[in-house]
Amino acid sequence: MDYAGRLRRLQRQLSDSKLDFLLVTHLPNVRYLSGFTGSSAALLIGPADATLFTDGRYITQAREEVANARIVIGTKAPVTAAAEFLVGRRKKFRAPAVLGIEPESLTSGARDRLAVLTRGKARLRSAPQLVERARMVKDADELRLIRRAIKLGASLFRIICNTIKPGVREVEVAAAMEFEARSKGAEGMSFPTIIAAGARSAVVHGRASAARIPRRGFVVCDFGVILTGYCSDRTRTVHVGQPSREARRLYDTVLEAQLAAIAVVRPGVMAAEVDEAARSVLHKAKLAEYFTHSTGHGVGLEIHEAPRLAVGQEQKLEPGMVVTIEPGAYIPGKGGVRIEDVVVVTPSGCEVLAPADKQLVIL
Ligand code: ZN
Ligand code: ZN
Repeated sequence: MDYAGRLRRLQRQLSDSKLDFLLVTHLPNVRYLSGFTGSSAALLIGPADATLFTDGRYITQAREEVANARIVIGTKAPVTAAAEFLVGRRKKFRAPAVLGIEPESLTSGARDRLAVLTRGKARLRSAPQLVERARMVKDADELRLIRRAIKLGASLFRIICNTIKPGVREVEVAAAMEFEARSKGAEGMSFPTIIAAGARSAVVHGRASAARIPRRGFVVCDFGVILTGYCSDRTRTVHVGQPSREARRLYDTVLEAQLAAIAVVRPGVMAAEVDEAARSVLHKAKLAEYFTHSTGHGVGLEIHEAPRLAVGQEQKLEPGMVVTIEPGAYIPGKGGVRIEDVVVVTPSGCEVLAPADKQLVIL
């Protein structure tokens, strides 16, 4: 991973954002810029250098993982240690430095403490989402790891097909999938596995529960693994027993919506246009009111990251962005369908990762 290049590019943006320093506290951002994977860290970035603050649990790990930043092992919280370090560095300066912070990841308590500790030496300012923006476009190393994660995630569909049958509990299906994922090297699941059967399939985020799979109905399975830090995300909806005409129409329409959205993904297209492509298919089938979430989201070090493919999102797609395409329709009391793939934006369109046949699977 080109941590040094990422850090350099960020440092070049500091002055454009009128910042002297940036304190990175969102851990995925720390990892993206330095390689550090520990659970306690802050990265203080100046125009020409960077310092990672962590605690004694991570001495060895920080030295192994971080090559492009000074490492400070403190006994205090990383943000406190960073504040004291910055004050020490600014001793000789009269004018306070402008210290950018990541407002989404710093609690108001931590922000208050930081302000007190750096009083007279730094002025805090909420920084624009510089790291999140950089992370939207994946480099070749990241794409390689994302492909591997998606491939492992996709392989769990086999477990779904082998495990789902009437009377089996949703959690048993999830357990079998998660066991398989860990056995194949996953560090964990990227979110609690969703197995939502029968009427529960109409619950958009129906985490696997103790409910038993009924004799007939949809089962929405939304699952992802974390492999070498990168998340996968995929949804497949299967049907137990013979589907009614209505159920088949619901499935086919959601699939058509998903394919329509995938078809418009290319550089220069606005995120909202991808959402609209899916929504208009469901609209024509009079199902738009049942599509109650956005069409997709970025995936990478985090399961949900920029860009969002949703109404009003003006972000233009660029080659190297990795996003999910996941329309759904959920009829309360009856059932729901969601179909989700991860695609990578290419110079001429997009590539579906781990593509597979998506005709309705009947178990
Ligand atoms: Zn998902
Ligand atoms: Zn998703």
